Amino acid sequence: MLGPVLLAVSRSDRMRRLVAAAPVTRPVVHRFVAGDDLPTAMDRVRALADAGLEVTLDHLGEDVTDRATAGATRDAYLRLLEALDAEGLGKRAEVSVKLSAFGQALPVGGHDIALENVRQVAAAASAAGTTVTCDMEDHTTVDSTLAVVAELRREHPGTGAVVQSYLFRTEQDCRALAVPGSRVRLVKGAYKEPASVAYQDKREVDRAYVRCLRILMAGGGYPMVGSHDPRMISIARHLAREAGRVAGDYEFQMLYGIRAAEQARLAADGERMRIYVPYGADWYGYFMRRLAERPANLAFFLRSFVPA
Ligand code: FAD
Repeated sequence: MLGPVLLAVSRSDRMRRLVAAAPVTRPVVHRFVAGDDLPTAMDRVRALADAGLEVTLDHLGEDVTDRATAGATRDAYLRLLEALDAEGLGKRAEVSVKLSAFGQALPVGGHDIALENVRQVAAAASAAGTTVTCDMEDHTTVDSTLAVVAELRREHPGTGAVVQSYLFRTEQDCRALAVPGSRVRLVKGAYKEPASVAYQDKREVDRAYVRCLRILMAGGGYPMVGSHDPRMISIARHLAREAGRVAGDYEFQMLYGIRAAEQARLAADGERMRIYVPYGADWYGYFMRRLAERPANLAFFLRSFVPA
């Protein structure tokens, strides 16, 4: 019941200021966010790579409303890719971008501004021997985001898309995306969406996830299974085998700080396992979505306000 409330406040500037100012917040945030700056994030990437895991890095930020901040997001990613290249980590680490941080929501020309900014990031990623995946945000952005992915793929075929099983449209999107060379991350979806476009019942979202998995595994693309759900992971492994795929013809992805033991177990079992590592100072929206997903996370956060 609290989930929708948390998702609603995840976009409130007033709550952003309140939560960010609370002195006890930081240690809890750092359970889900790798650090505030690039050097700390690079330390985490090295440690994860040494442990046999792969990484996708997210420089935190979203809902940018001016062009200068959108340019700053692009520059932060260019610095990140430079650092990955300098350390030869392009084979182990890619980047995930949120187009709303690249200017997609700007009222005039937002789509084109985001495309131009992210095009530079995709070129830098290719030069560093790695790829970009475009995260999916709320349902109003899906057409624009998939169009950006299609455009980037013309020059950078490894550019990845994300689809959310809670949206009614997603099975159709999976069919269109399950083609050779296409990298597709399937997730359940993390935003508050209306009943006109998305399943509201968790069981319906799970059933849709399995239908989408089936399409992606049977298709010609590269499925990226973004879930912590043990049932989805086991079904994905079964469907992969059924489709004649071996480990490395698909991969699992989980978020930094969530089910770390399971991440290590899957990697030790021979699966390709990629960790989504967010870093940066603008962690509020990301953090609130993680709290909304799981009451236990919220309880952990609230307990931190109680003096020991
Ligand atoms: P759930 O049914 O939510 O959870 C299954 C089990 O996983 C839970 O019982 C619990 O054990 C564990 N778990 C799940 N969430 C948490 C948590 N927060 N804390 C602790 N344990 C937890 N969403 C988007 O809308 N757009 C994106 O671009 C996007 N990218 C993502 C990238 C990756 C790599 C991953 C893993 C998720 C991404 N998400 C994205 C979030 C996703 O949509 C879900 O909100 C999130 O993954 C929770 O769904 P679940 O499949 O893990 O299953």
